Amino acid sequence: MIIKKNEVEYSKWWNQLIQDGNLVDIRYNIKGFFVWMPYGFSVMKKIKQIWDDLFKEQQISEMYFPLLVPEEYAMKNSSWWSSFKEQAFYALGYFDTEKKLFLRPTGEPAMYPMFSTWIRSYRDLPFRIYETVSAFRNETKSTKVFVRDVELGPWYEIHTCHATREEAEKEIELAIKMNEKIFEDLAIYPLKVRKPKVDCFPGSAGAVEFYTLMNDKVVENGSCNNLGQAYAKAFDIQFIDSDQQKKLVWQTCTGNGERFLSSIISNHGDEKGLIIPPNIAPIKVSILGIKIAQGNPEIEQLIKNLGVERDRIQTAYAEDVTSIGEIRYKTERMGVPLRIEIGPKELASKSCTLCWRDGTKEKSTFEVVAEHIKTGFNKMQNKLYIETKKELENRLHKCDTIEEAKKAMIAEIGWCGKEECANWIKHDTGKDIIGMVLVKKEKKCIRCGETGETTYVSESY
Ligand SMILES: [Zn+2]
Repeated sequence: MIIKKNEVEYSKWWNQLIQDGNLVDIRYNIKGFFVWMPYGFSVMKKIKQIWDDLFKEQQISEMYFPLLVPEEYAMKNSSWWSSFKEQAFYALGYFDTEKKLFLRPTGEPAMYPMFSTWIRSYRDLPFRIYETVSAFRNETKSTKVFVRDVELGPWYEIHTCHATREEAEKEIELAIKMNEKIFEDLAIYPLKVRKPKVDCFPGSAGAVEFYTLMNDKVVENGSCNNLGQAYAKAFDIQFIDSDQQKKLVWQTCTGNGERFLSSIISNHGDEKGLIIPPNIAPIKVSILGIKIAQGNPEIEQLIKNLGVERDRIQTAYAEDVTSIGEIRYKTERMGVPLRIEIGPKELASKSCTLCWRDGTKEKSTFEVVAEHIKTGFNKMQNKLYIETKKELENRLHKCDTIEEAKKAMIAEIGWCGKEECANWIKHDTGKDIIGMVLVKKEKKCIRCGETGETTYVSESY
């Protein structure tokens, strides 16, 4: 984890890492947009594969809704519309000039009018779907690749409808578990909080938010929203229950996307470049043959015996010092977890050198190399995960005074829940209230001294 002393320096490091690491090209001439390069897109696709598998396992069906949303749909829920109106991109040129259309900033207004036509009876519930798309938000604040873009994507949204409040709450529990699983594969230990009501998704009853670290701040990295019945009411999503009564559904929604990738960069990246955890690395092993003829049969055999999927192994051959250096440099920048180097002498003795991305090196024979690298990948995955856990613990400080809270990167304080105190805390610390501890824990309000809850305060993206 790199901590730079100011935002400008951090942005420079960030942009260099994502460009030299072949993730994206940021030279596309519209602010807030970029081009995904093949390697970057393959990393993102590995992350997407994790969520696709997870959702499939839980029988959440994948769908696709139109990019354009009629304004009349959006206006059905005024609290949603009032918070996204400013960020809407209107589409021009549609043949029906009476209709006002805009690009989706989130899925609700496109989906929920349709839900209301599909859901009729308790037999149609639970209704659980997701889509992976791009969403568009006109950002007025400064943009940052993968963190705050105008086109956000690939981005997934799960939307569910249930007959009872309890079922919806269970769905939130599941959404939290699925998010945790994704973060395990990213080798990142996130901070989970309950969001204060005022900061929840417009109109929702509550939310659990995941935060990850970035420089000296935290980033919102996936929220699981309990929508209650507010949207069902606004969009008229009702069903006839088994008791023949007409009832409103209970809803949840969950979403995240390229911010997962942003957390890999900020949490694992170092001065040399990216570090992609083995579980999601599209290239897990890069084999470098030094002064060996390309397509050497013994190396081909070694590749077969590595125990790694063929499409996640890359091979390169080099004759001179310059090209050897270039290949080493490139694999480091791209964050390939392991480089295996083999020279003529090593080939003769059927051995090789394992160069791990964290700088450690070890010798191995061809015979046991598969065992070696399997252990090595597990070790690396765990090490990265534990490091992010330690980093989070190092930054979290229990604070009893405003002065202490001001100094801490993430301050654990007490807050009574009153808006007046929240405003004072924000003013005095220069930080935001990012949420309360997941399992409610009493702590006296740092401002007024009344009974409150354990709450986290930090600067956030
Ligand atoms: Zn208070």
